[in-house]
Amino acid sequence: MKIVAATGNAHKLQEFRSILQGAEILSQSEAGFYGEVEETGATFAENALIKAQAVARATGLAALADDSGLCVDALGGAPGVYSARYSGGDDRANRVLLLKNLEGTENRAAHFACAIALVFPDGRRVESEGKTYGRILTEERGQNGFGYDCLFWSDDLRKTFAEASEEEKNAVSHRGRALQALKEKIGELF
Ligand code: IMP
Repeated sequence: MKIVAATGNAHKLQEFRSILQGAEILSQSEAGFYGEVEETGATFAENALIKAQAVARATGLAALADDSGLCVDALGGAPGVYSARYSGGDDRANRVLLLKNLEGTENRAAHFACAIALVFPDGRRVESEGKTYGRILTEERGQNGFGYDCLFWSDDLRKTFAEASEEEKNAVSHRGRALQALKEKIGELF
């Protein structure tokens, strides 16, 4: 079964492929999609659906999209759906801003959340969600992963996501859990 991953993020594409072994996951460019989909939703679930519907419509193939982000308790759930655009700069600038906004804050509890939508060309859809809990360190640790990984100390792994192998992270991550939940909903397709 061919599925287009509705993401321009190479790390997410790699995570989709390693978790959904058994399905043929195409990148957007392999499926001939070069557009940008604007994330206008107020929730992770709305944004995932918007992206998957747009790419399924444009390519005529089943499309899988996720929307994810980091929610920090002491910041009222921010950066949340704005995680990628938090500082207006790149991942590094986002991490610098996060540390600045948490300066002197004792409560560093946080979670990553992920919503996934799989949309078929005929409009049918399957949706799932996953979360993973931890806390924000005061300095970066580890070299792997992307985004906020090197600042997120995972309660499950007892180390940062950037210190974990891809396999370790996928076993407990928000995206891994959302994909597992999706797999359970549509078991026989994979
Ligand atoms: P999205 O591409 O709109 O889902 O934006 C997600 C943003 O949240 C990314 O750019 C990262 O900043 C952050 N994020 C989501 N998942 C992860 C993860 O697994 N590790 C680190 N950062 C993540």
